Amino acid sequence: MSKLDEKLDRRSFVKTAAMAVAGLSVASTVQARSFVPFEDEKHVSEYESNKVLIDTLKYVDVSEKADQNCLNCQFYVNPKDGKGKCQLIPKGLVLDAGHCISWAKKVS
Ligand code: SF4
Repeated sequence: MSKLDEKLDRRSFVKTAAMAVAGLSVASTVQARSFVPFEDEKHVSEYESNKVLIDTLKYVDVSEKADQNCLNCQFYVNPKDGKGKCQLIPKGLVLDAGHCISWAKKVS
C-alpha cells in the first residue's frame, strides 16, 4: 500500500468516525425529545421487559459512589420529584439518587 493510499484510508476513517459521532449525537437528541410526560410511569423495575436490561446495567436506586448518580449522568432527562427518565432504559423511571455501570458525567 502506497503512502498516498494510507493517507486516503486514514482520511476516510476519520471522516467516517466523525460522521458516526455526529449521527449518535443527533440520535441522542431526537431520542431525548421523544420522551412523553412521565407522571404516570412506574419505576423501571416494574416493567417486565426491563428486567434483563436493568440487571445488565446493574442499576441500583441508591448510588454507592458519592460523586456519581443519575441526576449528574448525561443519560438522565426530565427529572421531577426525585425521579426521571434514563435514555438507556425504554420504560419507567429511575431515581435521582440511582446509579448504573453506564454512568457518564453530564456535560453542561
Ligand atoms: S445511565 Fe445514567 S441515568 Fe441511566 S441508570 Fe445509569 S446512571 Fe442512571
